[in-house]
Amino acid sequence: MKIFQINLLKFNTPNSGQKIDNVSRCENSSSPLMMSPRLEKDTVTFSGRIPSIVTPTMEDLINRTKAVDVLRYNILRLAKHDVPCPVCGGLMFDSEKSVTFDKKLLQCKNPTEILKCIEVYSKYLHPVESEILKMMKQDNLYHPERTLFEMLKRRLPRAEKRIVQHQSKIFSNIGLLSRKLPEEMRLNVQNLLNDSFDRILDPRETSRFSRQIFIYKLKNAIIPDTEKNKLREKLKIEFISKHSMSEENFESNMASYVETKLKVAISLWKVYTSNQMAILTEAYKLSKAYNNVDAFIVKYAKRDYKGADPDYKIATRMLNNSLATVEHVVAQSNRGTTEPKNLSLECAACNNGRGNDSILKQIEDNPNMPVNYRRFMKRLCDLHLQNIVEKSYITQLNKTYKRQSCGILDADLSIMNKRSNKKQKILYIQSGITPTKAERRQARKMKLKLKAHKNNRNKI
Ligand SMILES: [Zn+2]
Repeated sequence: MKIFQINLLKFNTPNSGQKIDNVSRCENSSSPLMMSPRLEKDTVTFSGRIPSIVTPTMEDLINRTKAVDVLRYNILRLAKHDVPCPVCGGLMFDSEKSVTFDKKLLQCKNPTEILKCIEVYSKYLHPVESEILKMMKQDNLYHPERTLFEMLKRRLPRAEKRIVQHQSKIFSNIGLLSRKLPEEMRLNVQNLLNDSFDRILDPRETSRFSRQIFIYKLKNAIIPDTEKNKLREKLKIEFISKHSMSEENFESNMASYVETKLKVAISLWKVYTSNQMAILTEAYKLSKAYNNVDAFIVKYAKRDYKGADPDYKIATRMLNNSLATVEHVVAQSNRGTTEPKNLSLECAACNNGRGNDSILKQIEDNPNMPVNYRRFMKRLCDLHLQNIVEKSYITQLNKTYKRQSCGILDADLSIMNKRSNKKQKILYIQSGITPTKAERRQARKMKLKLKAHKNNRNKI
């Protein structure tokens, strides 16, 4: 690593604290690579890789975020051409359609109208939501006065019974697997399971069971305290080196910083033993509203809508699941960039379900992904032929997917080449370089003259 001498005055970035940390490291080492003798006060030595000597100003940073926003916006705009999701294969709903749907929904006066409004967009519904719509339409035939919320409520007891049976089975499996854990962690898991059992059997609406919170707590329970403490210490050091603030604010700020960072670290934790992994796999089997009709009924029949119109909320939820979102192929937590080649489209349900998983894990969870991915890419190629998407974006995106999935996800992009000659022709005409008839005649004459001249020269 090279050591540079840089004037601190040039460095007025918001996170200059980090650089000072590097400075102190460098001062201790008497490296022979030092380029010039140490200077006075305002000049410090800096060790580390520097991408460019010019520090970005605030304006640069704002422009850069704007550029990313424009990029995201452009990618999201593709969704309005009915692009299928590369993971689940369902058609994606774009924000423009979502706005018109919302407007229509607000004008609906009774459940029948709401159902008709949803039906217009039925091709965008995911399997669970289509099933719910079918069920609601049938109910509506016989009881047109019944609201969507009431329909779900009436089906709640049966759905809840099935869900509780399924959950209890998974809880007992987790209990059995936890017997192999060290005593301290086994007790943690046991307490969590008891609490969850109480929750799912509790008829009151205040103590609802949440799959997401359960999985987070389970991860927390199986990571040993010693590991957590180590992580906490590391985060404390990181905070101290980053910030230089007054002592009064320091303690409280540090505590909140460390705890929130620790939460993130636990949710991203990847170092598990095989037994811990088996416990988590079992927990992930818990059904959720995205993939189970009963779970959908239980979730939205028991939900507290806090004064909002439940029917409106249920109707928007049914379509919001298919809303197109920008997806980082390499997750940002794994140092994924915001370059076009790393940005793809995915429906909201698949994007939320993925979390920070790798593409390989995603394929494992969605066995149909390779087929759906090819359909997605084919649609992009079609859009390229219609002059909507750039070819380079598609080829680069395919490369990223291919690399991340170890070759499992790979699409045939040769359809795009068909048009290449045509495209050149179109560009030729559009750019105004096409010669007129007279020009062509003149060019032909010139050619003949040149030929004659050459022939003459050869004769001599
Ligand atoms: Zn999807």
